Formats: sequence, C-alpha cells, structure tokens
Amino acid sequence: MKKNQVCQTEITGMTAEGNGVCRIENMAVFVPRTAVGDILEVRIVKILKNYAFGIIENILTPASGRTTPSCPVFRQCGGCAFQHVDYQTELQYKENFVRDAFARIGKLTPVFEPILGSDSRYDYRNKAQYPVAEQDGHLVCGFYAKHSHRVIPFKECCLQPEIFTKILNYLLPALESAHISAYDEKNHSGELRHIYLRKGFYSGEIMLCFISRVSVRKKIKHILPDIQKHFPEIKSITESVNPDKTNVIMGKNISVLMGAACITDKMCNCKIDISPQSFYQVNTPQAEKLYQIAKRYADLHGNETLLDLYCGAGTIGLSMADSVKSLIGVEVIPSAVENAWQNAEQNDITNAEFYCGDAGTITETLLKKKLSPDVIVLDPPRKGCDDLTIQSVVQMNPSRIVMISCNPATAARDAAKFASSGYITEKVKAVDLFPNTAHVEVVLLLSRQNSENK
Ligand code: SAH
Repeated sequence: MKKNQVCQTEITGMTAEGNGVCRIENMAVFVPRTAVGDILEVRIVKILKNYAFGIIENILTPASGRTTPSCPVFRQCGGCAFQHVDYQTELQYKENFVRDAFARIGKLTPVFEPILGSDSRYDYRNKAQYPVAEQDGHLVCGFYAKHSHRVIPFKECCLQPEIFTKILNYLLPALESAHISAYDEKNHSGELRHIYLRKGFYSGEIMLCFISRVSVRKKIKHILPDIQKHFPEIKSITESVNPDKTNVIMGKNISVLMGAACITDKMCNCKIDISPQSFYQVNTPQAEKLYQIAKRYADLHGNETLLDLYCGAGTIGLSMADSVKSLIGVEVIPSAVENAWQNAEQNDITNAEFYCGDAGTITETLLKKKLSPDVIVLDPPRKGCDDLTIQSVVQMNPSRIVMISCNPATAARDAAKFASSGYITEKVKAVDLFPNTAHVEVVLLLSRQNSENK
C-alpha cells in the first residue's frame, strides 16, 4: 500500500471514534465521514504499521441512511462525526459501540435495553468553550479542526443555542477594542485562551467566563456593563486565569467580574446552582431521562442509604433524595460540593450530605466508619474508576450499583472488575446525550450475586 493510492472498497464497520472501516490489501483502513455500506473510492493518506487512514475520493454507491450534513464546516470541524447519516443510523452505530465494548473489553453478556435517542438532534448543548485565536489581524473563535489546535472560526453551530453566536459576535469586536490579544499556544504568549458560555436550559440564565493566561480583568472592566445591557440573560461574568502550558482549559480559581458566581437551572424538578467549575450535563432534557433510568435501576423504596460517587453539583443524588432515607455525595471539585450543599438546601432536602475529596479515598474512610449503603451510584469521568474506588465499593457490599458513564469502554472494563468481585452487570442502556458526535452515554445495573449476605 502506498500513500495517495486510490482504491475501490466497501465500508464494513464503524469505530467508536466515528470512522468507517474498510479492508484494503488485508489492512484496516479508517475513513472519516463514511457510512457502513458505502461503496467508495478511497485515497490513502497515512500508513501506520498495522492500519492506515484514508479519505473519500469518490462515493460510488452511497449507503442507505446517508443524508446531507446541515453544517457548512462539518468536514473541517472536529466536533461532529455523524451529520452525514440520518439519526436512526447514528443511533444504530452507537448501540453497536456499546454492545461491542461490553463483549470485547468487558467479556460480559448483559441484557441491552434499546438505546434512547434524543428528542432534538440540534440545539441541545447548554455549554461551549471556544478557543480564541488571531487570524488576519482579528480575534476569532470557533472550534479546533480534527486532531489539531487550528481554530476553525464558525458563524453558527447547530448543536448550540443561537444566543451563543450572538454573544460571540458582540464580544469579539468589543474585546478587540479593549486591545485583548489571543493566547498563542506555540509561544505561550498573549492573553485570552477561551470564552466559556453556559445556559440554563429551563431558566435561560447565561454564564460567561473568560479563560486567560494572565488576568484581563482591568482591560475589560469598562466593556462589562455594556455586555450585560445587551444580554440581560447573562447573570454571571467570571474570569479564570490559567497560566500553565496545558490542554486543560480552566484555571484553578475563578473570580467574579460581574453579577453572581453561579447561574441557576432546574433538573428533575430540583433547582440547581452551577458554578463554572461544576460539571453539568450538556443536554439537560436528555440527562433528566438518563437520571430517571438510573433511578429505575436503583429500585429505591424509601428506606435506603444511597452513596452518590462523583456527584458533581449533586444532581443525580438529589433527584433520588425523596426516595431514600439518606444520601451521601462525594466529589473532588470544592465549588461543585458547595453547589451540592446549596442545591440540597434550596430544595428543602434535609437527608443529604456531601464530602469533598477523591472518590476512592473518601469511600475507604466511610467504609472504616462502617457506612454500609444499600445502593451506590457511580458516575466517573471518561477514565473510569480507579481500583481503590472499586475495592472500597465492593467492600461496602451494596445490593445494587448503578454506573453511569460517558465512556462505554471504561464502563465495560470496570464492570468486568466488579464481576470478578461478585457483581453481575444485569442491564445496560445506551442514552444518546450527544447527537451528531461519536459520544454516547451508558447506564448499567450491577447486582450483588448472593443477596443473602445482607
Ligand atoms: N454526577 C454528576 C457529575 C458527573 S461527571 C452529574 O451527573 O452531573 C464526573 C464528576 O467526577 C465530575 O464532577 C468530576 O469533578 C468528578 N471527579 C473526577 N475525578 C474524581 C475523583 N477522583 N473523585 C471524586 N470526584 C471526581
């Protein structure tokens, strides 16, 4: 196989990253923006030891399910993977990713409940973090091109609320007039790294956070009242200084420039305060459905002790608090834990408490204090749970574990570890929180095999 060679081929599979797979000269070739069943001419663009990458040279026979992408920068932007297929096809791919992860990585055979699609395929995101760059002497922001840090400026993004675009169109010239420079990653110079926006789905309240290498507070002070006058929905303007050479977006601290430190929204009928550093699911109505499935799996009767690990601002546990005797949440980000306490209080939930720290360390401590929850909810970040957390959870001996994860691969890996300690994965349901992207959420029910122990 040679670079630039063009071959006729059929796409026979789809990877969890959203690349179509074909075999050419006995080698797997990954081709983005293709559909299973496409007959194509593919140009080989990169050859590695065991696989290669190609791009579409020509579509000879399109697969059923192909459709026209609605976004003009779909080909350049790294955000979406599936705009070229209809939603049913996208859901089918995602269901397969999940089944495949559990079979291949977890070696498990749970019951798979059908995937739950999102009511809206567009406009669902409540959050965006736009990298800022300078192009042709002007500040621009947009998204990174796939596998790169080149900023693709966009006029609008169909996954996000329209008002975000309006705010950016207003902000960029205002920031230019305040002589704000864009952060330059290569030289680690310049000022503004990202503009971060979040909108409460039900409340409509907007949070604006400037993420900068060095504080721009003094330089932009005079433009803030105008921003709020133009966009009264903006209830909170903050700055996070991140002086490090890093891919991590947020700095360690947040300071309020104008308005409140948080915005308020609603989830599962709970009033929820969220600070910029608190995790908050990006697709609110779909996350509410996810939490309802988690609650069904938790099978609560009002007398349980519930441990909610990786609880963020407390959303999942608080949505179940009316059905348990007591709720304990654990989360590592201090401002999220503050939100969680506040969220319990403002919803008159008095049976909840929250601990700030590492999930494994705190669970181990709670275990030593003889805490014995009936049900444990785990909602770890993409990398999954560490061994200390898994061991401590197992030793707590709950009847049921409900795991929620945005990464089916690590969820399957962790489910296999729980299986070797006597917890079988009974049910798995994929929930599409991120239409058009290759991401998919899963919720799992793990049950203790010999329930007589308790
Ligand atoms: N359950 C919440 C948040 C889930 S996201 C919700 O549904 O909104 C995962 C959360 O785990 C984040 O809030 C993150 O800050 C937290 N986290 C990451 N590593 C952690 C650790 N080692 N210990 C405790 N929490 C952690």
